[in-house]
Formats: sequence, C-alpha cells, structure tokens
Amino acid sequence: MTDKTGEKKSNPAKWRQRTRLVRGGQERSAFEETSEGLFLTSGYVYGTADEAEKAFKGDVERYMYSRYANPTVTMFEKRLAQLEGAEKCVATSSGMAAVFAALACQLQAGDRVVSSRALFGSCLYIIDEQLPKFGIETVLVDGTDLDQWKQALSQKTQCVFLETPSNPCLEIIDIRAVCDLAHEAGAKVIVDNVFATPVLQHPLELGADIIMYSATKHIDGQGRTMGGAILTNDMDFFEESLTPFFRHTGPTLSPFNAWVMVKGLETLDVRVARHCENALDVAEYLSGRKGITKVLYPGLESHPQHELAMSQMSSGSTIVSFEIDGGKEAAFGFLNRLGLIDISNNLGDAKSLTTHPATTTHQRLSPEDRLATGISDGLVRLSVGLEDVEDLKEDLDQALG
Ligand SMILES: *Cc1c(COP(=O)(O)O)cnc(C)c1O
Repeated sequence: MTDKTGEKKSNPAKWRQRTRLVRGGQERSAFEETSEGLFLTSGYVYGTADEAEKAFKGDVERYMYSRYANPTVTMFEKRLAQLEGAEKCVATSSGMAAVFAALACQLQAGDRVVSSRALFGSCLYIIDEQLPKFGIETVLVDGTDLDQWKQALSQKTQCVFLETPSNPCLEIIDIRAVCDLAHEAGAKVIVDNVFATPVLQHPLELGADIIMYSATKHIDGQGRTMGGAILTNDMDFFEESLTPFFRHTGPTLSPFNAWVMVKGLETLDVRVARHCENALDVAEYLSGRKGITKVLYPGLESHPQHELAMSQMSSGSTIVSFEIDGGKEAAFGFLNRLGLIDISNNLGDAKSLTTHPATTTHQRLSPEDRLATGISDGLVRLSVGLEDVEDLKEDLDQALG
C-alpha cells in the first residue's frame, strides 16, 4: 500500500497469510474506494490508434479485453496467488473449466496421463472419457497405493492428476511421494485442492506443479457464484501452454463473480476454521452412534490415513462422509427426515448440505466402479456449515431416529 505521497507504508511481500487474504492484490482506482472495485466492462479504450497498436504488438502491457484480463479478476487472481505462494494464477468460469484448461492446454495425441481413480465425477469424465477421444492414454490408479503409482509411472508420462482429500470418501494421497515419482517420469502434477481449501493445504510446497480450485465451493463460501482458478510457479507451462489456450478458448471468469470471490477470500480463514471445528465435532458425534457403520473424516484417529492427512493438511477438512446401516433405503429415509440440513450436491457453503453420492454426484459410475471407490448405497456426504453445531447434532439425531 502507498499513501498519497506515494511513499511505501507497509510492504505486501512481508504480509502474513491472514493479512494477504484481506488485502492482497487490491488496487484502488482514482476514487480511493475502501472495498475492491467492480469493473463490469468487457472492453477498454485507447487514447490513440498508436496505443492500440502497441498493446496488440505486446509492447505495452495493459487491459485490452476482459476475455484476457479485467481489473477485478486480476485482484482475485493476485490475492489467491499470494495465499498459495504461486507466481501465477488464472481465474476461470468454473472449477471444471479450470480442470479442463489445465489438462487440455498441455496435452496432445499420443500423450499419457496417470490419475487417481477417486475423483469428483466431472473430473473423472474428462480424464476417463474426453481425453481418450483426443488420442490421449489415461491410466487410473488407487491413489492411496504408492505401488500402483510406481507401476503406472514407470514409463514416460506427461501429466499426473490427483485429488486429496477425495470426493466423497476423503481418501488422502501422499502428495510429496507422488510428485517425486511423477517428476521422475517427466510428468507435471496437477492437484485438485478443492476439498482441502487454500487454507488447509499448500500442494506447491509439497512438489506439485499446478493447483486447481473450484472457487464455487469454500472461496465463495455462501453458494452464490461459480468460478475456478489455476495456480502455478511453472513459467513455461504458464506462458507457452496455459496463456494462449486460455485467451483463445475463453473460459474467463466474469468480473461480477470475481468480485464476490475476492470478498469471499477476506473471510476464508475464519470460515474454514469454523467449518473444520464443526466437522470434527459432528464426526466425533457420529462415530459413537448406533446405525452408522463407518465415519470417514481425516481429522479422526480412526481414519486409515490420519497421520498422513495431518502431516500435509493443517486440519481435518470441512466434509464428513458416513455410511448408514441399511443401504439406499435407510440413507434416503435419513436425508428425508432432516429438518435443518439441506439436501444439495453443492459443498463448502455456510449452510450445511448433504447428498447421497451413489444416486447424485457419482451416479454416472457403474455399480462396480462405485464399490471400487468405496461409494456404497448407504454412504452420505455432509458438508458441515457454519450453524451452531448443537443444532446440527440435534437435526442429525432426530433424522437418525
Ligand atoms: C465442485 C468440484 C469441482 C468442479 O467445480 P465447479 O465449480 O462445480 O465446476 C472439481 N473438483 C472438486 C473436488 C469439486 O468439489
């Protein structure tokens, strides 16, 4: 920040994480507004024809067209990049636009991708169905099994994709170990960090090359807007692959959504802390409950990878999944009896939301594939919100009967 005389008062490079979330990337206009400006404009004007020529030649860097860049979107990108310690951030229109752009911009026919199998449904569609149509070989592994990664990465590979914790079973993948194997095979690693949020886990520090987010989830945090982001320190990838792909295919974030997201970042740290506190409380409550056969929460010691989870995440995450005895009928009965917690496939919202993955988010999978990834008919995923946790437990209690 600079004062009116242009003298530096505080050095942004020295700001701690919580300060960056509130102030990172802000650029005030001539009106000196407190809150980040919303620049709802698609174009920009040039004083002279020569200025336009220079901009198009790349001799000067300036705003030209909002498909390329927009001041409100830039503030969101800079704030998120500072939080991750990333050189570059590109905001996208949705999380899926981020996943597709991050993969498609760097792959071509004949390339090979290795990915964990337990993925968000749409990510699995891109990797398992869309990329092979372009002549790209894709190999799926059990993300928790390092031997399977080792085997799959024993030959030259261009790209590795993984999600940890995974949706909906909250499996944990050893990011550092997989990155080491991937780099030996010549692959760049993309981590879908949505479930961990930018507050709990920093994959770039663990060796990942690219991170992607659905900002729709915790970054917005109140279920209003769609958005996503790609972050990296790999300047080759950013300049040669991502930038031209992004500019010319147009998965651009709207300035309005970017404005909601940049304001969302200001409260992300406090919200995620409360989400995690409530989630642990709910997970502990469910663990002792009759009629529940399994509780999956990385913050519980009973989680099969609790130690790994705690070594790469600062908390147990905001989502709890659990299995209700009695399959689909029992799970539906439970969901339909809930009075406070809403049935919704969204997550990371201030409101607690719950879904039955087997019939919603993971409906596209064959019954065999669902079982292979632990998605039984009794499994319920709960995105724990910011309500008073006693009200949440009361609602769960009456719905469990
Ligand atoms: C929601 C989600 C996505 C996709 O993001 P959208 O904003 O819905 O396009 C990708 N990965 C994970 C883990 C998600 O939860």
